[in-house]
Amino acid sequence: MSEMDVDVLVVGAFTAGLYFGGLMAKQGYKVLICDALPEKEVGDRYSVIHVGREHFGNFGLPEPKPGDSEYIRSFDTSILRSALNNYPKTSHAAILVLRRALMTQRIAAWAKEQGAELLYQTAFEKPLFNDQGKLAGAILRQNDGELRVKARLTVDASGIGAAVRTSLPADYGVENFVTGPRDQFYVVLHYVNLKNPEQDAPKVNITWPYYKTWFASQPEAEGALFGIGANLSFDYAERCFQRFAKKGFLPESTEDHIEESSTPYRRPPYSFVADGFAVMGDAACITNPWSGEGVPYAWALGAIAAEEYGRAMKDGAYPSRESVWNVNVRYQQAQGALFAQNLAMLCGAVSCTEKENDYEFKHAIIYEDETEKGKGNLLLKLLKAFISGGISPKSLGNLLRAAGTGGDIFKHYIAYPGTSEGLPQWIQQADALWEKAGSMADLAERDLAGMGK
Ligand SMILES: Cc1cc2nc3c(=O)[nH]c(=O)nc-3n(C[C@H](O)[C@H](O)[C@H](O)COP(=O)(O)OP(=O)(O)OC[C@H]3O[C@@H](n4cnc5c(N)ncnc54)[C@H](O)[C@@H]3O)c2cc1C
Repeated sequence: MSEMDVDVLVVGAFTAGLYFGGLMAKQGYKVLICDALPEKEVGDRYSVIHVGREHFGNFGLPEPKPGDSEYIRSFDTSILRSALNNYPKTSHAAILVLRRALMTQRIAAWAKEQGAELLYQTAFEKPLFNDQGKLAGAILRQNDGELRVKARLTVDASGIGAAVRTSLPADYGVENFVTGPRDQFYVVLHYVNLKNPEQDAPKVNITWPYYKTWFASQPEAEGALFGIGANLSFDYAERCFQRFAKKGFLPESTEDHIEESSTPYRRPPYSFVADGFAVMGDAACITNPWSGEGVPYAWALGAIAAEEYGRAMKDGAYPSRESVWNVNVRYQQAQGALFAQNLAMLCGAVSCTEKENDYEFKHAIIYEDETEKGKGNLLLKLLKAFISGGISPKSLGNLLRAAGTGGDIFKHYIAYPGTSEGLPQWIQQADALWEKAGSMADLAERDLAGMGK
């Protein structure tokens, strides 16, 4: 068995792991980033990714430009449409359309420049503990045998499977749940050739949130991408897509190929840190509940963690859970609180009929255009909806309950405890609030049962 001694071992060399590893190497720490896949295959679990242009600059990463191998094109308009295809809600932000595997290679080159070492075809196998029972690295598996890596900090950035987090004992200080089918968003991407590309080629991204479907561009200028996401399984997601396609909102096309992949769809663990351990990216379930996107949010947690671990590990110190608690506090009180609120509101937002969703779009309830933001009083709009019959009392009740629970969860996350002692009591209240929020998987199961065989 070969051996290595590093300060930081990062498992997973996609965006979350590369970014955190690069930032720690930049501060002078000895960093090893490993990935189970061969170098060329990292990042190719689906081919095209959209990332807001501003994030590259904000997080200090090289911005892909026209002419770079990963760059396909950019657009700056995104549109949401109602369940009946009405009332487009437009927003503007520069979005880069990128080849995912090539984007990964550029970020890997950046991480190497910062001083990180990368090892491919090197998979996490099991954690290593020291005499005090604290995490002290990992045993990795390579083609020609085992590699024993001693590390003061081991980071799980291995994606939805969370290889390291799920291998830790239940009482280690971070939840070791498995993100199963009820908690995943199964995405099916249909790459199509358009029948009338001059007329129909997508110039903007269009999303129908009611059906969790979207219409976007892809590498072939004459083609398009139809996407859908749903809990439970790829099969159920595809059945939802076929039901949506029959509505005739999409342009005529012939299918080229399909890609399938999944993303987490559940609340993150209550703590991202434990003794000698941190979890990031999809392994930490920090994707945006409305869009399923994860890259910029993983960078946000990575940036906070690199500052806190950079401080805590100075002069050879072992990063105890307490010494980096601020990672939790800073994340949960900002992005964490917002995403928790959105996740809690999802069930209520989609528990209505197509016509009711159309009404909500028309009157800027939940879904607002840039020009409508902050205008009008939501309670008055809901009262009007009730009186006019635009939304039924039952759906209105769902909406109000969801908004109430979302608001409570937001406040609870803003009050995330400043030290780990306050966590058990905070968790008790958080569990009760999440129970009230309901589950998208329950809605999906009911829908699936109604679809028949
Ligand atoms: C179809 C689809 C489309 C999406 N589109 C977008 C988008 O347009 N924009 C956006 O921001 N987000 C998007 N997302 C979400 C985004 O892909 C994820 O949030 C992001 O990939 C998470 O990055 P990560 O580094 O945490 O994990 P991953 O991308 O899952 O990478 C984890 C890495 O860890 C490695 N690994 C796993 N197990 C082990 C092990 N035991 N040992 C060593 N290595 C291991 C894997 O090989 C992999 O390379 C999309 C998701 C899906 C499913």
